Amino acid sequence: MPADGKDYYEILGVPRNATKEEIKRAYRKLALQYHPDRNKSPEAEEKFKEISEAYAVLVDDEKRKLYDMYGQAGVSRTYSTEDLFRSTWFDFDELFRDLGLGGFDSIFERFFGFRRRPQQPSPTYVEAELSLKEVLTGARKEVPITTAQTCGRCGGTGGEPGHVDRCSACNGTGQKVERVQTGFMYFTSVTTCSRCRGTGKVVRKACSACRGLGAVEKTEKVVVEVPAGVADGDSVVIREKGLYDHEVGRRGDLVVRFRINLGKQFSLDGDTLVMHLPVSPSEVAAGREVSVKSFDGPLKIKLRRENLETPVVFRGRGLPMRNGRRGDLEVRIKLVLPKSLSHQQLRLYGELLPVESQYMDEERSRLFSE
Ligand SMILES: [Zn+2]
Ligand SMILES: [Zn+2]
Repeated sequence: MPADGKDYYEILGVPRNATKEEIKRAYRKLALQYHPDRNKSPEAEEKFKEISEAYAVLVDDEKRKLYDMYGQAGVSRTYSTEDLFRSTWFDFDELFRDLGLGGFDSIFERFFGFRRRPQQPSPTYVEAELSLKEVLTGARKEVPITTAQTCGRCGGTGGEPGHVDRCSACNGTGQKVERVQTGFMYFTSVTTCSRCRGTGKVVRKACSACRGLGAVEKTEKVVVEVPAGVADGDSVVIREKGLYDHEVGRRGDLVVRFRINLGKQFSLDGDTLVMHLPVSPSEVAAGREVSVKSFDGPLKIKLRRENLETPVVFRGRGLPMRNGRRGDLEVRIKLVLPKSLSHQQLRLYGELLPVESQYMDEERSRLFSE
């Protein structure tokens, strides 16, 4: 037992060979007793800090190993208070939630005076384009995500199997420990081994599968279920299916944002789906009935002159809305001339011209006289 510093085992009341489960159980019991939400005495706060520190160290394999070898001094020289808690933050959060206590963030900030650094891996944003049909019925989309995965051949060491040695400089611990004497005092200084960069291993020959990187790229098709009636700009979050975040060491969430491809003939006006229907002047003049395909089969539209101003509305024939019902489909008539006129069309327009121009001249002559 290291002579210097606090005895974390004693603080949690567990034996030195306690399993993680035993350590967890002991901490849960003490946390219920000393958590500031439940215990308002001033000593409780100090006690809570102490048990939390002990737990953060003993529940983490690496920190526990360091503590067992060099005591609290070894731990405190290697880790800042912030670092001490960083790797177990989720553990604490989950544990407190489990016990029905307040989250760890606010307590941590109050006790130790700093906020949590981003611990969540950054999310990956992608867009998925949807057709109107897919919005109506819902869809299954596949989003390809290329992410780094631990190399199966070398298990992430980057060394060809059989060609990885234990680092002789640190004896495989990845840490360099020095005892420094200052006057009567001895300090233990623990630094990362420079030869193996803390891995404890030295690679003699690079892994042939990953060329020594320890990771290989793999493209995965993430399936996204698109609910019917999704709105443009809506998104879904798929937990831990985004890119690997090297800083945090985990995959982030995948955020899929939906874009509705309305095409040229459609637009949205609130919940109303607007169709811009091209018609020719003669079709309107003659009051022709045209048929357009819709989600619910063909729609017949009788073209009337008044519809140049007033759109034709089909109730409940648009896209699904958030309330589950369907919005309206509004048909707006757009007058267009055929792109190129045939000889026959030119002749007929020529016949129409004197009649229409006389009428139109009269219309125009009133523009300034009224
Ligand atoms: Zn080393
Ligand atoms: Zn490899």
